[in-house]
Amino acid sequence: MQKRVVILGAGPAGLSAGWKLADRGHQVDLIELDSRVGGLCKSYYYKDYTFDLGGHRFISKDEELIKDITDLMGDELFESPRKSVVRLKGRYFYYPLAGKDLLSKMNPLTSARCFMDYLYVTTKNKVKKSKEISLEDWVVNRFGRGLYNIYFGPYSEKLWGVPPSQISKDWAAQRISLLNLWDVFLRLLGKKSNAPKTYATKFFYPVRGGIGRMCDKMAERITGKGGRVTLNAAVTGVKLNGKGIKEVVYRQNGEEKTISGDVFISTIPLPEFIKSLDPVVDRKYVEVADSMKFRSLRFLNILIDSERISDNTWIYIPEGKFKVMRIQEPKNWSPNNAPPDKTSLILELACNVGDETWTADEETLTKKCCVELKKLGLLNGEKISHRFTTKIAHAYPIYTLDYHKKVDKIFEVLDPIENLLPIGRQGLYRYNNMDHSIKMGFLAASHISDGLPKSEIFKIAKEEEAFEEEK
Ligand SMILES: Cc1cc2nc3c(=O)[nH]c(=O)nc-3n(C[C@H](O)[C@H](O)[C@H](O)COP(=O)(O)OP(=O)(O)OC[C@H]3O[C@@H](n4cnc5c(N)ncnc54)[C@H](O)[C@@H]3O)c2cc1C
Repeated sequence: MQKRVVILGAGPAGLSAGWKLADRGHQVDLIELDSRVGGLCKSYYYKDYTFDLGGHRFISKDEELIKDITDLMGDELFESPRKSVVRLKGRYFYYPLAGKDLLSKMNPLTSARCFMDYLYVTTKNKVKKSKEISLEDWVVNRFGRGLYNIYFGPYSEKLWGVPPSQISKDWAAQRISLLNLWDVFLRLLGKKSNAPKTYATKFFYPVRGGIGRMCDKMAERITGKGGRVTLNAAVTGVKLNGKGIKEVVYRQNGEEKTISGDVFISTIPLPEFIKSLDPVVDRKYVEVADSMKFRSLRFLNILIDSERISDNTWIYIPEGKFKVMRIQEPKNWSPNNAPPDKTSLILELACNVGDETWTADEETLTKKCCVELKKLGLLNGEKISHRFTTKIAHAYPIYTLDYHKKVDKIFEVLDPIENLLPIGRQGLYRYNNMDHSIKMGFLAASHISDGLPKSEIFKIAKEEEAFEEEK
């Protein structure tokens, strides 16, 4: 039976649900806050340059999902080689590291210290395993304090803006191959000889138009099948009627509008969704929602009059003395992301909405970042012809030590709403990847069309091995 499905948010989760539902003949309406689809997987264009909202590469372990995406994209998708490095104490460590590269670069005293710490912690754990609550516990328990102090502690503190002792171990446990870096150190220390299992040396990426092209194609598919995507439309209210949602209220061009449907899929931030319910939820749920925070990001996108800066896709900068956390050179993702004789960089800065980094004027931010680029040896007098910044308020759901209790509490309200499916990174307050959000969208469509149990959707990106690398 054809259903009217209203989807809140047009990022990968909302779009993929809409795509599969429209394909099956349902009437689909997407309501999107922004002036463009794509959510976090959007790309920005300036002259002949393309900048993702932070470089996004598509990788999945799900063959069916890969087939769906490659069929959708046709010859617009290619496999790009991946090369990541970690810049630590003035040296670049290539990943996956070759033994020679490691041995020639790592300070022998540091290696010895790490090795001792590693031996200590593994021996101690054989006698009695230490408690594991936080990200810090989890890492130190496996790799020792020395390795934690060198890389993981500083990187995590920069990423989250709070000490890793305040972040749940769940995050570390899921980001397994983030810790491949640790495998790397262990390899250096002779504690491991096998190649990293989960590292993909290639990723899918659009030939032109950046990662945003994937989302544009999904939207084209939806509208091609008669679905509608309403842009510049902020969901402000969700009206309940007995056990379900009756209609959704949104503001577009200063006007308040409503839309009704049989089923509603929400991919907008969980705390905002719960607070938009009408009748309003009990105060205790609002308090929980208010305590569920997101880490934000600001990107400095710079255009450089030089052919290339490096050949890396990602450069990680763990040291706290640098504000920049990661650097991407879009040309290394697709050669079409910059003109042949020019290049560009995306500098990723973690922040909170309203703080110094979030509010800094572009000129000040550019000056500060250029000083860092020089110190990092990445800018050596090259001319910057233009720059602009982009921002994400809801970049990373912050996994505080009790975040899962908060999510469970919110689901006390959501579970009884029969015609609601919350999915995606924001909708479930789950630190997932793009492929997970797309898969959730597909499964939501199967739930609506064929009665697939909801529990199948909620399993995605919960399992520890679901992740290939840190995002
Ligand atoms: C810097 C960075 C790099 C990443 N790199 C990768 C990568 O390389 N590979 C990978 O697989 N994943 C990556 N990810 C993760 C990936 O971006 C997410 O998993 C994915 O985009 C989540 O899709 P989503 O649809 O669930 O959420 P979103 O993309 O956040 O979409 C939610 C949508 O809801 C809309 N919305 C919000 N509020 C409202 C409202 N009130 N009314 C209407 N609409 C609203 C938003 O505008 C947005 O369009 C990265 C994430 C970040 C932050």
